[in-house]
Amino acid sequence: MRIPPEFLPRDGRFGCGPSLVRPESLDRLCHSRRLGTSHRQGPVRQLVGSVRANIATLLGAPADYEVVLGNGGATAFWDAATFSLVERQAAHGTFGEFSAKFAKATDAAPFLAPSLITTAAPGGCALPTPAPEADVYAWAHNETSTGVLAPVRRIVDGPALTLIDATSAAGAVPFDPAATDVYYFSPQKNLGSEGGLWLALMSPRAIERVGKLAATDRWIPEFLSLQLAIENSRKDQTLNTPAIATLELLDAHLGWLLESGGLAWAAERTRESSGHLYAWAEAREFAQPFVADAALRSPVVVTIDLSDDVPADSVNAILRENGIFDTFAYRKLARNQLRIATFPAVDPADVRQLTRAIDYVVEQIR
Ligand SMILES: *Cc1c(COP(=O)(O)O)cnc(C)c1O
Repeated sequence: MRIPPEFLPRDGRFGCGPSLVRPESLDRLCHSRRLGTSHRQGPVRQLVGSVRANIATLLGAPADYEVVLGNGGATAFWDAATFSLVERQAAHGTFGEFSAKFAKATDAAPFLAPSLITTAAPGGCALPTPAPEADVYAWAHNETSTGVLAPVRRIVDGPALTLIDATSAAGAVPFDPAATDVYYFSPQKNLGSEGGLWLALMSPRAIERVGKLAATDRWIPEFLSLQLAIENSRKDQTLNTPAIATLELLDAHLGWLLESGGLAWAAERTRESSGHLYAWAEAREFAQPFVADAALRSPVVVTIDLSDDVPADSVNAILRENGIFDTFAYRKLARNQLRIATFPAVDPADVRQLTRAIDYVVEQIR
């Protein structure tokens, strides 16, 4: 099926990660003189320094928080946090695949007490339950597998740390950094770069915890040592060789976000895109937002259930043939659903075109 060109977006990349990389970032990459040079020398260290400073500015970091980075992405950070941040026991809120994966990691660690896990069914939200024994509270700011946006706040007063997986929220959703101790993410979602890197905004208390655990006799693999990551980050380096291309794309995207108006601007833009999609779904008799509670609907990952006579697999296949990519639901959710990223790099005008394209496809297949 050929969708008429007047219904097509200019850029058809709507995937939740890896997500749309702006052509302007790629131009900068093409002209980078840093690729193919040592990551221990000035030019790449300046790039890392710029990334760290731009992230602190974009997220509105308190002056005593530090931006730390390392290789391996958010998935590696879960293991690093298990070794370097959880002292005895973690409490998790899980409400989808990603938040559940970190809970699984801490729960399986032989040197920790079994994790305390509060769970909500996909489409809902669960924060960790207060527990006197817990020294880490962890959940995801935006659950990418379901399109649920969770609140970011402290669960209890006291020394327990708050760890927020912000992989698909950082750079598009305003929050209070002082309510978190570690706000960590990978750069291939809102931040328009490639995967393979993790970044974390860390509070002085989190850095202190890392130092305390590094000084115990707990065995911590070097690659997963946040103490080593902090020491390297302070020198604008990483423990081992990073993908310089990822850093270059990330810095280009951060520069664009900051010039455009920062987090408030990005939030407004993603609200415009996602607001259009939710309103469109509510107005169609064949579609409805998956997340029933409107207050939990993500501004950056929009999940829309389709009626049985509109198979998402067929819609997605036709969209793909027409250059519109990655609108499929999270595989393990196994629902008749579309999932659309409305990250800042996605043009709201393209989101409006996407709904025209879907309307056309549905008209044809029914
Ligand atoms: C994508 C994603 C991850 C995994 O990121 P990787 O870079 O693939 O490790 C973790 N958490 C959330 C919320 C995500 O969206």
